[in-house]
Amino acid sequence: MSLNQSTIDALRQLPAPIGLNFIDNKAVAAASGDEMPVISPIDGKQLTVLAASDGEDMNRAVAAARRSFEAGHWSRMAPAERKKILLTWADLIDRNALEIAVLGVRDNGTDIRMALKGEPQSAAATIRFYAEAIDKRNGEITPTREDVLSLIHREPVGVVGVIIPWNFPLMIGSWKWAPALAAGNSVVVKPSEEASLSVLRVIELAAEAGMPSGVLNAVNGRGSIVGEALGLHMDVDVLAFTGSGGVGRRLLNYSARSNMKRVYLELGGKSPNLVFADAPDIERAAKETAASIFRNNGQVCVAASRLAVERSIYKDFMEIVRTEALAMKIGDPLSLAFTTGALANAAQLAKTGAAVTRAAEQGAVVYYGGHQLHAEGGGFYHEPTILTSVTADMDIVQQEIFGPVLAARPFDSEDEAVAIANETVFGLSSVLWTRDLSRAHRVSSRIKSGVVQINCYSGADITTPLGGVRQSGNGSDRSLHAFEKYENLKAKWIQL
Ligand code: NAD
Repeated sequence: MSLNQSTIDALRQLPAPIGLNFIDNKAVAAASGDEMPVISPIDGKQLTVLAASDGEDMNRAVAAARRSFEAGHWSRMAPAERKKILLTWADLIDRNALEIAVLGVRDNGTDIRMALKGEPQSAAATIRFYAEAIDKRNGEITPTREDVLSLIHREPVGVVGVIIPWNFPLMIGSWKWAPALAAGNSVVVKPSEEASLSVLRVIELAAEAGMPSGVLNAVNGRGSIVGEALGLHMDVDVLAFTGSGGVGRRLLNYSARSNMKRVYLELGGKSPNLVFADAPDIERAAKETAASIFRNNGQVCVAASRLAVERSIYKDFMEIVRTEALAMKIGDPLSLAFTTGALANAAQLAKTGAAVTRAAEQGAVVYYGGHQLHAEGGGFYHEPTILTSVTADMDIVQQEIFGPVLAARPFDSEDEAVAIANETVFGLSSVLWTRDLSRAHRVSSRIKSGVVQINCYSGADITTPLGGVRQSGNGSDRSLHAFEKYENLKAKWIQL
């Protein structure tokens, strides 16, 4: 789809809808009637309000999900029929993609080019991927003795709770609700209070596509209230979460305190980017290095926020990265004149500024950037920032910022590069540049991360799992393996 500024401008003038809940295929206010403001990161002004729901709303949504699941309108629907509804839903999302993307940008500040591709269009593609898989996955017959028939059957787990962050809510949400729904579950989504409007629009479209009542619900409000209510609910079977490690820890605790529901966590990262002097194309590696951390202001779970470059090319490499940072156009995410938008909220802006200050106090050098931008307009913009002379003990190396800040340093040996890669508690993603195939295999095996990208950044798609190890989480989104999170294996043992 080619983008046109006047169409975008017309869409941004539309009044932003109130962020209601969606329960039993109806948009409803919070039971208490409470609302909370939605602030746009573009200018810091109030965009609309959101239902400030509580446990009562969550009870209603989970009850609707449970009713629909037990009634079997979706869970026992013929797989080919479920597939048809999901494909219709994906078509509706594509048809309304620009409107949905603009609404999402007004809510979370991602630039419109990236938002269109990464949000509605990616969500539609994900829904299609899982819809297409529904009627192509068989059960199993095991090799038992002759007088027995033993079947392995995949069953939906029941009610799935989905809790998502504000960065790429449709992309990440779809990675969870698409396989969960395709497997026959009912779902309750808790969108981030920082990015819920586009999620609600997409969930409404599911109803329009023919999703039976109660199968896909959404409850808005503060994570500490409705997220907790979902996490502690006795009638939720699986929780699928993407967000910070702190909240992930809470979810494990909620599970232990309630019904021991399965909890899948896609958490943060501090992903390393190792550049060896024999990288196949140094200039491309440097350009992709800049993109890997500055795209969407570093608000990308797999952002390569720690750079280590072999000493012999370090200086020249850093020059190219700085030139790339300098060339970035940061500003209004709905203007095609800019390439990168705003940070999602005031707290993210403050966290970014504080992290840079702290790094400088701890001895890092601000090699480029370091300042807020366009403060006069009230929005949440920040320069791409490069810190050098960092060391393993600094907070900037150990803590995720989720902002446009790169921490860089040289290395002298392969062993040192691997040690740098593994120096944090995280293990989500990593990048490695070398033309030596043996080294690529050796180093990628030694790096503790769920994903290793070799001689590219962001080469992955829906066919390929994304999941972390260590404190970056467990289980995987994307790929056919994602079904495993939302299904139980049932063994049927039949004496013949
Ligand atoms: P967050 O953890 O603050 O919030 C995520 C969600 O949890 C939101 O919907 C929020 O309302 C909810 N929540 C907050 N408190 C809760 C509570 N007490 N109980 C239940 N739910 C609660 O994360 P964020 O700031 O929205 O997103 C940024 C984080 O997400 C970063 O750490 C980033 O690395 C991570 N992330 C990870 C991936 C991945 O695939 N691994 C992808 C994107 C983002």
